[in-house]
Parts: sequence; structure tokens; C-alpha cells
Amino acid sequence: VETIIEVRELKKHYPVKSSFPFKRTRQSVKAVDGVTFQVQRGETLGIVGESGCGKSTLARLLNRLILPTEGEIKFKGEALAAMDKEAIRSFRKSVQMVFQNPYASLNPRRKVGQLIEEPLVIHKAGDKEFRKKRVRELLEIVGLNPRHAGRYPHEFSGGQRQRINIARALALQPEVIICDEPVSALDVSIQAQVLNLLKELQATFGLTYVFISHDLNVVRYFCDRIAVMYLGKIVEIGSWEEIYNNPRHPYTKALLSAVPKESPFTQKERLILSGDVPSPVNPPKGCRFHQRCPFAKEICKTTVPHLKEIKNHAGHKAACHFAE
Ligand code: SF4
Ligand code: MG
Repeated sequence: VETIIEVRELKKHYPVKSSFPFKRTRQSVKAVDGVTFQVQRGETLGIVGESGCGKSTLARLLNRLILPTEGEIKFKGEALAAMDKEAIRSFRKSVQMVFQNPYASLNPRRKVGQLIEEPLVIHKAGDKEFRKKRVRELLEIVGLNPRHAGRYPHEFSGGQRQRINIARALALQPEVIICDEPVSALDVSIQAQVLNLLKELQATFGLTYVFISHDLNVVRYFCDRIAVMYLGKIVEIGSWEEIYNNPRHPYTKALLSAVPKESPFTQKERLILSGDVPSPVNPPKGCRFHQRCPFAKEICKTTVPHLKEIKNHAGHKAACHFAE
């Protein structure tokens, strides 16, 4: 297997604006705070967590829309932050993004054919005739009628609009697609259709996905591996079988308990979280989860638990003092 994306000790901190005009503040929002993982070519890595855990910031870092405060991301061995213009151009072709909101992400004044053609125009891919042919082909690939290229986004349903976004993302034959909550805004019945389409496209084109979601139900059937994020850190990572059948971090267990259907836990074992997610400005010392964790001991308040591999479970790591 080839490692296509490598993330090492990645941090993204944003300065907090002081509410007093002449007062300086050294505080920062630690949106992503020391994250390390790899993505293999052809796999789907799910990144799961509640809103505010840093997963959308991570998506933007992976897509090079923003640069990290510390640490690095490498795409096929090349550091994103060190890329020159030419390398960025080719990176922009290879790594595409599909966003959450299929309503907001398409310009309503442009025809669907133009919207799908746009990345081809920007990257000067072929002449007009080639592009026209490619647009028809792309519409067909995502299950839309190629004769509808002259229609406007509002003439399509939410699911169809997400298909249009996917066609746009595919236009330049990418290797990786970062999907940030791509089905969260859609009805459950439509979600399955879009996920099936993404699966088929992955098989056909050998795509690699990073799939960001707050919904463990969605991720379960779609991802090969899952990383669970809490307050800017990965607290557990492993194959989906390990995460679902053998979760070791209390936060993962709590997320799984919240999954309404087919939860692996009986009513008695269910772990319901109390309290809100603390602020990422001053995250709790020690284990960031300790104020909400029903198993917290003294050590959890003072000592940061690092992501460590579970014995005899290769590739399954958890950041909890009592993971074993
Ligand atoms: Fe809970 Fe302690 Fe494990 Fe953190 S380290 S998840 S507080 S038991
Ligand atoms: Mg988000």
C-alpha cells in the first residue's frame, strides 16, 4: 500500500480577538492541536466528532485552503506548505473537495454544464469541444441526464445538486476527494443513494476519500478506517470493525451509545455524556475529556494520554490511560 497523505503533529491555532480594544491577548483557539495520521491510496478514512472538534478545520488544512500553525501535511511525499506555484496547481487538480451544503455551493446564475466545465476551464483542460463532451460524460457518470446540462441548479433536487458537486469534483480526474459532511443536509433516503454513488466512483476511479462526519451511522458503512476527534485531537483511530466492535476510548463509546439503531450496547451499558464540549480556547489540562468522562481518575486531570496502539490490535490506537 502507498501512503498518499501523511499528517504529522498538525496544529492550527487561531488568535482570539480581545474584546478590549487596547488589550493584547495571547489566547488562541486550538482548533486542531497535534494530530498525526496517514491515509493509504484507495481507502476511505472517516473523521468523526461533534461540531467544534476541529474536523472542518482539518478538512481545510488537507485541502490547503489554510496552512498549519505547526506540523505538516505531505501529499505523495511533498509537504503542502513548501509547494511552489506549479506544485500547488497540480495539487489542486489531484485533491478535490465536496462540501456539506449542495444548495449554497453552486452559483445559481450559472447553468449546470458551465458549473461542471468551470474546473476544466480554470485548468485549461482541452478545447471547447473536448470540454463539452467531458461535461456530458461527467453528468452520466454521476447518474444525471446529460441533456440537462442547460438547466439551472434550482431545477434540481438536493440529492441531484450534490451529484452536480461530485461531477465538478471529478472533472479533473482527482486522486483524493475530501468530503466534508457531504450528505448531512440530505434526507436519509437520499443519503444512501449519494453514498452508493461515491462508493461506485471510488471503485471505478481508484479514488481515496477522507470523509468528515458527525454521524457514526453514516460513517459505519462507508469507511475502511475511522478517526474519532475530540477538542482538536484524535482520541481513537482504527478499522471500522475495531471502532464499532471494540471501542476503547470512553468518548467513542459515548458516540456509539448515541447511535439510535443497532447500537452495539445494551440499554444498561449505554454511556450518556453530561455537560457541553469545553472551549477550545482553554482546553482542560490532562485528558481533555476528563470533565465529561465517567471513568476519570486523578491521573486524567494532570497527565495527557497519548495515542497508543492497543496490544494485539495492530493499527487500533486510543488516547486513554485506561484503554487496555
Ligand atoms: Fe476518561 Fe481518563 Fe481515559 Fe480521559 S484518560 S478518557 S478521563 S479514563
Ligand atoms: Mg463543521
